[in-house]
Amino acid sequence: MAKYALVTGGSRGIGRAVCVKLAEMGYNVLINYAGNTAAAEETLQLVREAGTDGELMKFDVSDAAAVRTAIEAWQSAHEDNDEYIEILVNNAGIRKDNIMGLMPAEDWSSVLNITLGGFYNVTQPLLMPMQFHKFGRIINMASVSGIMGMQGQTNYSAAKGGLIAATKALAKEVAKKNVTCNAIAPGFIKTDMVEGLDEAALKKTIPANRFGQPEEVAECVAFLCSPQAGYITGNVISINGGLYT
Ligand code: NAP
Repeated sequence: MAKYALVTGGSRGIGRAVCVKLAEMGYNVLINYAGNTAAAEETLQLVREAGTDGELMKFDVSDAAAVRTAIEAWQSAHEDNDEYIEILVNNAGIRKDNIMGLMPAEDWSSVLNITLGGFYNVTQPLLMPMQFHKFGRIINMASVSGIMGMQGQTNYSAAKGGLIAATKALAKEVAKKNVTCNAIAPGFIKTDMVEGLDEAALKKTIPANRFGQPEEVAECVAFLCSPQAGYITGNVISINGGLYT
């Protein structure tokens, strides 16, 4: 029976590296994205080259109705085979940095709606099947910003801090059913999201003296998804080159 993983924000950056890694582990990958179909198709190609298959799932994670429609359509197409999505990586995210005094309401709500609303919208319909089958893995992509708080990112720190708290609470609810829920808190990782930042100046603040690579985050996701990580739940794992411990 095929095994399935859903990665939100799988078209680019960290999400793409996670899709490829999960494909290498034998998972068919459902690649969610918001609008960049060309990038999502490239990820699908990489998934196929890694040896499994996948499909594109375009929806805005903050759009509750769109998420439900997409997930329910997938579930009803697969219920006869008793197939379910056993791995969920809540990775989709945006940042809209500004000092709080100048932050438009829209930049506050969009960051929270995508990170926290998206977490609820996508996770909720997948939980019962995971618990019924007594195996599930939920990985939430948080950030060092959600642990230490970063100036100019009050919205993003709030969203990622909330995601960490939700991770801990949900982990306790589902642990008995062999479903784990963990968060990863990356520091600076080389993706489109950090374009425009002064890498030369910032890397001096990082003990490892470099930005991380998306594949380095994907390795950690892979471990947390493995059966061997079944006793690790409710945790936040930092991947930040020593920036903050
Ligand atoms: P990225 O390169 O900007 O990619 C963002 C991904 O999220 C894209 O696949 C994008 O889809 C998708 N996305 C954005 N809004 C979405 C929405 N409303 N619905 C569905 N998909 C949406 O970002 P990244 O650096 O890989 O970041 C991935 C995650 O890691 C984010 O949660 C981010 O906050 C977190 N993170 C990143 C860093 C870093 O330094 N890069 C550090 C800490 C945490 P499209 O391609 O369709 O736009």
